[in-house]
Amino acid sequence: MGTLVDGRAVAAGVMEGLAVRVQRLHDRGCVPQLAFVLIGESGPARVYAGRLERLATTVGIDVSRLQLPADVTVSGLERQVGALNADWAVDGILVQMPLPPHLVGAHLSSVIDPHKDVDGITVSNAGKLYLGLPGHPPSTARAILEIIDFAGIEIAGQHAIVIGRSNVVGHPVAELLLNRHATVTITHRRTRDLFCLCRQADVLVVAAGAPGLITPDALKSGVVIVDAGINVTEHGVVGDVDPRCVEVASVMTPVPGGVGPVTNAVLLVGVVESAETRDA
Ligand code: NAD
Repeated sequence: MGTLVDGRAVAAGVMEGLAVRVQRLHDRGCVPQLAFVLIGESGPARVYAGRLERLATTVGIDVSRLQLPADVTVSGLERQVGALNADWAVDGILVQMPLPPHLVGAHLSSVIDPHKDVDGITVSNAGKLYLGLPGHPPSTARAILEIIDFAGIEIAGQHAIVIGRSNVVGHPVAELLLNRHATVTITHRRTRDLFCLCRQADVLVVAAGAPGLITPDALKSGVVIVDAGINVTEHGVVGDVDPRCVEVASVMTPVPGGVGPVTNAVLLVGVVESAETRDA
């Protein structure tokens, strides 16, 4: 029987470290600020902004909200983001995702200042990740590494299998694992014999958005499992990994209460890192 990692405890540790760093910034007259760009009436984006705002204020990070009308144009959105880029008091910029359909043509991946791109969506930060240079990786990918480190797992030399290749989770987490000298296999919807591959994993990161995709028969005994899946079902929020997998794993993250809380905390780490550079 493996251990369930409490993501809230991991997040609390991250926030404790952040509080000290933010205090040092305050002492020098610098208040880190995260700016949210919200478009129209999107309820989920507001809920997310509110949650991050409550967390940020516990350590002294300011959160501002720029509310744009639902009919804002691509150039209007890009102009507003440009103004936040130019605002020296803003350290991080988060634009509501997914964008409404009429804004998908906005070039946010090249418009947001990479230094303020705390969720790693820009081409510049993706390139830095690929080259193993310091930058802002997507926060969920960063949270997954934070959890593995918290659990005391040595990554170098392990066979890590990542299920999912999206730009926000699967692909970047594979790069982070590779940068830490894991042997990485990326799998996706078209992968053949997924379970056969999974049984070779020392570390299994699942980010597919497919409830219960991974069952105990897909696992090697003692595997470390990080489940990034968030699926809203009639039984509540569930992950991509069947909870019974903990009986075969050595370490596993639950859903909810695993990767999610850590993602919010490490996103704020990115804001503080930017502020520390601003203040230097
Ligand atoms: P996505 O839909 O963009 O990508 C899913 C990936 O999984 C794709 O590469 C797809 O090929 C692969 N996949 C899907 N079904 C599969 C299957 N049956 N077998 C093998 N591969 C399969 O999704 P995403 O944005 O990467 O999100 C993935 C999951 O992570 C979702 O549940 C999402 O809600 C969750 N998520 C969690 C956080 C967090 O903070 N915990 C953040 C972002 C996303």
